[in-house]
Amino acid sequence: GKKIVIVGGVAGGASVAARARRLDEQAQITIYEKGPDVGFSNCSLPYYLSRTVASAQKLVMMTPKRFKAQYNVDAVVNHEVVAIDAAARTVKVQNCQTGDLTTDHYDELFLAPGTVANRPRQIAGINGDQVFTMRNVTDVVALDDYLHDHHATHVAVIGGGFIGIETAENLTRAGYRVTLIEQRAQVLPTLDDELVQIIHKHLRDHHVKLLLGQQVTEISKSEMTLATGETVPATAVVVAAGGTPAVQVAVEAGVTLGATGAIQVDQQYRTNLPHVYAVGDAIEVPDALTRQARQLGLAWPAQMEARRAVDHVYGRPTRNRGFYGAQCLPVFELNVATVGYTEAASRAQGWSVKSALVISEDKVGLMPDAHPIYLKVVFDALTGEIFGAQAVGKGDVDKQVDIVATVMQQHGTVEDLGDLELCYQPEFSTTKNAVNFAGLVATNLLNGEYRQVPVTAVRDLVAQGADIIDVREPGEYARGHVVTARNIPLSQFRQRLGEIAHDHPVYLHCASGKRSYNVTRALKNLGYANVVNVSGSFNALCEY
Ligand code: FAD
Repeated sequence: GKKIVIVGGVAGGASVAARARRLDEQAQITIYEKGPDVGFSNCSLPYYLSRTVASAQKLVMMTPKRFKAQYNVDAVVNHEVVAIDAAARTVKVQNCQTGDLTTDHYDELFLAPGTVANRPRQIAGINGDQVFTMRNVTDVVALDDYLHDHHATHVAVIGGGFIGIETAENLTRAGYRVTLIEQRAQVLPTLDDELVQIIHKHLRDHHVKLLLGQQVTEISKSEMTLATGETVPATAVVVAAGGTPAVQVAVEAGVTLGATGAIQVDQQYRTNLPHVYAVGDAIEVPDALTRQARQLGLAWPAQMEARRAVDHVYGRPTRNRGFYGAQCLPVFELNVATVGYTEAASRAQGWSVKSALVISEDKVGLMPDAHPIYLKVVFDALTGEIFGAQAVGKGDVDKQVDIVATVMQQHGTVEDLGDLELCYQPEFSTTKNAVNFAGLVATNLLNGEYRQVPVTAVRDLVAQGADIIDVREPGEYARGHVVTARNIPLSQFRQRLGEIAHDHPVYLHCASGKRSYNVTRALKNLGYANVVNVSGSFNALCEY
């Protein structure tokens, strides 16, 4: 049989092994993994800190023994591939415990080395004993032990991506006081401003000290220093500042990298070297929207690339259609799901963009566990083609984003979202699902039936002295309102049309954008050509 050698034994590598065995009972399959574990759940690592995953052993889903018994795969842990000779088709392997070197032959070689967690060099003390990363079981156990041994009370996390947030949440649940520092003005770059503000508030409500737009300059024994000079107490620091493709061995062997610094592969995951394939976080893949190469750090792509690469070796046709980056995460009681491009990222691409933000419910409001869902769909202002979707809510927001992601992957438009026939029963959805609402609103915007500005534009409108009308009821207005806004409630506007101007733009807002939308449409039908809805929610920051 074929001799298959795999470098790296977690998401991509383990998937290569399992797929190869399913296609070929005769193949001799060997995985080399430099760490002590293969087939562990990276994605669950932070959950050990809060004991949501009760023991570190539970994180390891596939041991070498089980790999052998179930798949007849040799998973060799604590062994690092240190060199590849593509002409001779051999790898040099070092036993990490003894230092001994051996050589192994391959017919087909699969590289799945993932990334190395970044430790920004400009931070003094970044390699200190109290600084940890979150890559494997060893990392999380070392962090957890350190926190217990040092009776830690304060922990800092650098980086507001999903790994940083999940780590901050689980440390908080474990009883630590957590500071989360992000150098950008927001966490989660997959969310636009008006949705990420909900997450910022939610993190702060859960006592995560959130420092945005801040740089760390130094880590010392019990604190961190910021560029501002401020210090933050921290017995330990977790660095979740992204990863760099682990490509050194590949590069030394002559593997070509792309512009992103990750391994360049073709549609079948072949590198430039014969019989050498690469998958997972270490490679770059085509972005489905821009067609440009992009490096992704997600498990779905890693395991699917693995399957496709093996399929190719066994003569099965495969075609890489590009990736959209669908992802989700919980943030305490909230859930976040995103796919594709945000409005900000779409504009940065120079695309002509519109967006629809609807605040709907994930179930009929009478049901005890119904919750608001904020769903934003970003689309091409000319064609209605969907660039991306973002959802935030307490319920299963991944469902809504998965629906939009599916339509995107079929190259559908916002009109298709409006037309989608979906399941309905009060415990599951609303008669028009949030995705339908977003599609219908987006279609109206696409057709120019009304105009809107996002809630984030209100500050500028106030500064410009724009005519802003608050259509909430007087009691709500009295409890707090935009400084310059007049109050003409939805319940009274038909009697007070004389107070609404024709000759200049009038901006209508309410709490969620829903009532103001209805007034906008009504005024338009009454001949007011200059009305603009403010979409998005002033309540977003208070509702959760
Ligand atoms: P990895 O799974 O990282 O495996 C690479 C392995 O190769 C490593 O174990 C490494 O030790 C080994 N290796 C490297 N070089 C060598 C060598 N020369 N010789 C031998 N072995 C070597 N993705 C999601 O989609 N959803 C999530 O919820 C999610 N949560 C995450 C949470 C955390 C804390 C982390 C760290 C990641 C998360 N990810 C998530 C990302 C996901 O885990 C990765 O995209 C995926 O594991 C990538 O698979 P991979 O095989 O390319 O790399």
